Order: sequence, then structure tokens, then C-alpha cells
Amino acid sequence: MENNSILLPNGQLMPIVGFGTWQAKEEELQKALDIALEAGYRHIDTATVYENEKIIGQVLKKWFDSGKIKRSDIFIVTKLPPSGNRPEDVEKCIKKSLKDLQLEYVDLYLIHTPFAFEKVKGDFHPQDENGEIKLDLSTDHVKIWAEMEKQVNCGRAKAIGLSNFNVHQITRILNNSKVKVSMLQVELHVYLQQKHLVEFCKKQNIPITAYSPLGTRGFVKLLKKSQEIPDMLQDNVVLEIAKNYKKSSAQILLRFIVQNGIAVIPKSTNSQRIKENIQLFSWELQPEDMEKLSNLDLHEAGRICDFIMFKGIKRHPEYPF
Ligand code: NAP
Repeated sequence: MENNSILLPNGQLMPIVGFGTWQAKEEELQKALDIALEAGYRHIDTATVYENEKIIGQVLKKWFDSGKIKRSDIFIVTKLPPSGNRPEDVEKCIKKSLKDLQLEYVDLYLIHTPFAFEKVKGDFHPQDENGEIKLDLSTDHVKIWAEMEKQVNCGRAKAIGLSNFNVHQITRILNNSKVKVSMLQVELHVYLQQKHLVEFCKKQNIPITAYSPLGTRGFVKLLKKSQEIPDMLQDNVVLEIAKNYKKSSAQILLRFIVQNGIAVIPKSTNSQRIKENIQLFSWELQPEDMEKLSNLDLHEAGRICDFIMFKGIKRHPEYPF
């Protein structure tokens, strides 16, 4: 960690705390982004499928025009949607994101998922008459990666990476790439610590970003998994450590990940929570508390996002991803 940033393989620095924007839209997101930028966030995580790139673009333009920040001060991440996960769609998708974000380049462009959906105009998650997701099984990761590399070569993306890919899928790309894999963004939190994947990425010099670092409670409820997956913000071990350090549970959960050298992108649209989620740097967790938090790992039982919300996804030959 250098200056609260992570050094990417291409020499870029990425702020280790970013602002997550999934499920944040319109006016609420606009306000939240202003608060986040005032609070010091300089890394924003979005994706085509979040359908909020236009709002983010408007807020960024306002900040650039005011002279309060420059383009080079901020690190923007967006992602190739599953419905565009084909070599011929990469350029079209990144151009659309850049147009909506009102930017000439993104700092990091990720392949959002290892799987692809059929292309249906106006529908990111097309379903058949039985409600099953329309999978496109022709996905060729190596060919898609080659198109991602072109986006770096022509300046639309400073760096490229992967999201939701497993060791096998990452290895396939590593064996067939010219431009380095600069990031892996995966679900990672105290209940799903992904120690094997983290070790693999360390060996390959691939930095990691943890998504859903606070346990994305709203989504857990939506998936009807509240019984299986406890609320980590209410975990007794976390509450006890929080009390001792006079911090919130969220700060303990985030600091634990950051102290392991992994970036976090918590989402909040609440002013106080946005501010507390970036107050992670003038203090540290003692080794015995890091150990206690490390012991909370539930391994695969702690996984929230297994993509089964897409009915029929298990038919995919590479499932589980
Ligand atoms: P998360 O950040 O783990 O949790 C967000 C939830 O926690 C929201 O309900 C938020 O509510 C609440 N929260 C935030 N700060 C809090 C605090 N200090 N104390 C208590 N509650 C707090 O979940 P996430 O949105 O799933 O993940 C974060 C980001 O990762 C996303 O926004 C997105 O950018 C990215 N992501 C990527 C993928 C991928 O496939 N690559 C998948 C999922 C997520 P309030 O807003 O009311 O504060």
C-alpha cells in the first residue's frame, strides 16, 4: 500500500478505497457522489449494467468544470456487460461507457463476468418464456481479452482486468495475453476471504478489489439468504473489536481487508456512512485482532453472489464460476 493506494502492474496507482455505485441511481447517487468526492474518494466503481454511468458522468463533469478536481486526480472503473461479452462488442461497449461517463478514457476496464448473455436490445438480462436466462455459450475469453488489449493500445482504457473469474479462467488469460491482467474484482469479505484465490493472485502479481465488502445486506435479503448468511455488521467478534477501537463495525470490516493489501469499494448513499467508510488510515488493527477476523472465514458457505439469481445459469459448462 503506497499513499493509501495500490500499485497496479502497469505502474498506475489506484486508491485502495473506492466508491461502490451498484443499485444507486439518479438523484440519490448524484448527492452521494458529491458527498463522496468532498469526503476524499478518488476512485469510483461502476458498470454498464448498473445503468448509472450517465449520472456519474454528469457529476464528474461538474467537478472538472469547477476546477476542484482534474481528470488525472480520479480513478474510474467500469465493466464490459455480460450481454456484450463477445470480441466484436468490446469496442462498442467501452465507447458507450465513455460517452455516458463523458470521459476520453477509463482507468480500468474489467470483463464483468466469465459468462455471456445473448444480445437483446434494451435488456441486459434477457430471459426465455420459462424465465431462464438466455446464455450465450460461445464465449471465448482469449479472443475477448485480445479486444480488451486493443482498448489499452488505443488509449480508451489505461488498464484492463477481470471480475468474477476463477483460477482456471484467469490462468487461461495469463497464458494468452500480451497486456497484463491489472486487477481481479471479486466478492471478498470477512465471511468469504478467498484465501486460495488471494494467494494465487499474489504469486501472479494481480491486485484484488473486494466487492460487497460489507456483506451487501439488502442483496442477501433479496436472495432470501438471510438465514444462511449472518449479518457481518452484527457479528459479535466484529462488534467487540469495534468497541475496543472506538470504530464502527463497517470500519473494522473494511480496515481488515485494506490491511491485507486488498482494495475495497463499499457502496453507501448515506452521508455519515459514506464518510466513515473512508476513515480507515490513521489507525490499524493489531495482529491478534487481524487473526480473530481471519478466523471468521466461512469459506464457500459465506458466498453471497453465486449468480443463481439468473435462473438456468447452472447449465453453463464453467459453472460454478
Ligand atoms: P456492500 O458495499 O458490501 O454493502 C452495501 C450495503 O451496506 C448498502 O445497503 C449500504 O446501505 C450498507 N452500508 C454501507 N456503509 C455502511 C456502514 N458504514 N454501516 C452500515 N451499513 C453500511 O455491497 P455492494 O454494493 O454489493 O458492493 C459494493 C460495490 O461493489 C458495488 O456497489 C459495486 O460497485 C461493486 N460490485 C461489483 C460486483 C461485480 O460483479 N464485479 C458485484 C457486486 C458489487 P446505505 O447505502 O444505506 O448506507
